[in-house]
Amino acid sequence: MKKKEELLSQIDKVVRTCHKCRLWRTATHAVPGEGSATAEVMFIGEGPGYHEDKIGRPFVGRAGKLLDQLLDKNGLNRAHVFITNVVKHRPPDNRAPMKDEARACMPYLLQQIKVINPKIIVPLGRSALEIFLKDTLISEAHGIPYKSGNRVIFPVYHPAAALRSRSVMGILDKDFGNLPKIIRGELQPQEVEVENGDKNQLKLI
Ligand code: SF4
Repeated sequence: MKKKEELLSQIDKVVRTCHKCRLWRTATHAVPGEGSATAEVMFIGEGPGYHEDKIGRPFVGRAGKLLDQLLDKNGLNRAHVFITNVVKHRPPDNRAPMKDEARACMPYLLQQIKVINPKIIVPLGRSALEIFLKDTLISEAHGIPYKSGNRVIFPVYHPAAALRSRSVMGILDKDFGNLPKIIRGELQPQEVEVENGDKNQLKLI
């Protein structure tokens, strides 16, 4: 069996030459994601921004610095987690990914999840939350650990939203503070009831 690192680098390679949606046309670099191939915790943001697009690495701008601080404050660091995005090329003008773009890019994210097999997935903000819980607001779902098979889904606000609002910063800081407890299994996740949504959504992951 191929090593996890090898499988991740194969996914990276395909992403770097992917033309499945329009986003590659306006991007400088693909940003497949980075971190440990055996990470217990996987963070999923929305898409690469200006700085990420320039150098091909996820969360390297101001939002990334905040993410680093939050990781550090809670005894984690980039070497022990995996960080990626819903779409791997930058949407122009930092707009949110369109539905067809997120759909086109989804197989890469699902492959990354399958290879890494993280215990906890942390969707950062609305676009990533949408993958796991359809029609749910991040303002309602943040900070609540949800059970999905053997995994825990723990949505939090996107760090960029926290940079725009002091109150969101406080909420994000508080939610992040519970992450170590979830890793240690001290906070029990809720069973998810998906109403009117795609019940297969969570089963995919
Ligand atoms: S965003 Fe995803 S689907 Fe679209 S071109 Fe990039 S890698 Fe391919």
